[in-house]
Amino acid sequence: MFRRTKIVATVGPACSSEAMLETLIRAGVNVFRLNFSHGSSSDHVAVAARIRKAADGLQKSVAVLADLQGPKIRIARFKQGEITLKNDAHFILDASLAEDAGDEHQVGLGYKALPQDCNAGDILLLNDGLLELEVLEVRGSAVHCKVIAGGKLSNNKGVNRKGGGLTATALTDKDILDISTAADMDVDYLALSFPRDAADVNRARELYREAGGKGDLVAKIERAEAVQDDANLDQIILASDGVMVARGDLAVEIGDAELVGVQKHIIRRARQLDRFVITATQMMESMISNPQPTRAEVSDVANAVLDGTDAVMLSAETATGSFPEQTVRAMDRIILGAERTYQLRELRVHEERLPEKIDESIAAAAMFIANRLPGVAAIIAMTDSGSTPRKMSRIRSGLPIFAFTPHKHAQRRVAMYRGVQTVPFDSASMPPEEVNQQAVAVLLELGVVKSGDKVILTKGDYISANAGTNTMKIVEVGGLIR
Ligand code: PGA
Ligand code: MN
Repeated sequence: MFRRTKIVATVGPACSSEAMLETLIRAGVNVFRLNFSHGSSSDHVAVAARIRKAADGLQKSVAVLADLQGPKIRIARFKQGEITLKNDAHFILDASLAEDAGDEHQVGLGYKALPQDCNAGDILLLNDGLLELEVLEVRGSAVHCKVIAGGKLSNNKGVNRKGGGLTATALTDKDILDISTAADMDVDYLALSFPRDAADVNRARELYREAGGKGDLVAKIERAEAVQDDANLDQIILASDGVMVARGDLAVEIGDAELVGVQKHIIRRARQLDRFVITATQMMESMISNPQPTRAEVSDVANAVLDGTDAVMLSAETATGSFPEQTVRAMDRIILGAERTYQLRELRVHEERLPEKIDESIAAAAMFIANRLPGVAAIIAMTDSGSTPRKMSRIRSGLPIFAFTPHKHAQRRVAMYRGVQTVPFDSASMPPEEVNQQAVAVLLELGVVKSGDKVILTKGDYISANAGTNTMKIVEVGGLIR
């Protein structure tokens, strides 16, 4: 059976050759993430072209996601490249110190406004939370700190404040340039780092559309402010097409103990509000240097699947790790195991979001029937944009949803959605009375339905004229289908 939950893999030096990209697609990658925190835009353009070529060669629909760096707050650099901070030592973060003049006593700041944003008593976390500083006082451009948890500290490491609230805007000048690059590259997804609220997401979308970008927008949930109140989180989710539970930065800001509950809440809300969701970071971390995952990692991936995530994401595991192929294969195997454990069938519609439009009503009706009528083996959604299958896949059923579409963009877009497979299919090229028969014949050939099964079919009256889905039909395989 098809794997329902999708795999997003980050591209980096360990997998950016055409041969390795092809290997990872065969192993099961559905979406590649290009991380704009690293590499030049010409690198990303070249990698995206290789991904498209490899996917076309394998006749697979693989999506590309461009992930903006965002205003990650970082320290500047050290004269020696790296220092060691001892517990209880005094250490200064100084916005007016030269960029490469850091030593054991002080270091410069990439984000010059940090001294205005913090106060005595704040806890600053460096290097993804490995080091901890307490702010003693702020004197002009200098933040004087006491080292609470020391360790090694090297150039350009990230800074977070416990509890969040560091106020950089969501888009830097580099991000604005990268948005145009992503638009020119015709990526399928654009991910926005560190949005605080819906206004940040709307601004990114505006710039992306002005630059000609057609992809869907992913808001990375990685700031304490984004999850502190439920209304703000809902608004961010609604402003985006999908969200990422960006556990690396999020855990540092809200504390690791809060993370599991917050992950489950974000996944549930995203689905209820008709958006997709990616669960990211440290899912298979030990596989950066080991060929096997730990039991805890197996459990983490499987639990995200049971939570209902659309996709699970790999970062350094595929970008710079020693075992990218083994990692994707292990993830594929763990997901399939979790999906065999059980498939939730949601019988109730999401009351938070009752259908307002015709296509939403058809999607909800199709799933209502799919989850009740015995003998339904598959759902066929004839679609131009992929939006009806997305709406269907927000309601859990365990049944495969097939997005039949002639459009490459839609074929790639649905690569992200849980439970949705694409079938290239041009209904406009065949006599209208044969479309349903031919569609079911494709599923018979794929071996996903057999004679006597029921199939739910949805489509618009004028498939190729963007008319939108307004029709549902239930047919029986083996009979005469009109
Ligand atoms: P990053 O985002 O890898 O770009 O930091 C994901 C995360 O913070 O978890
Ligand atoms: Mn992050």
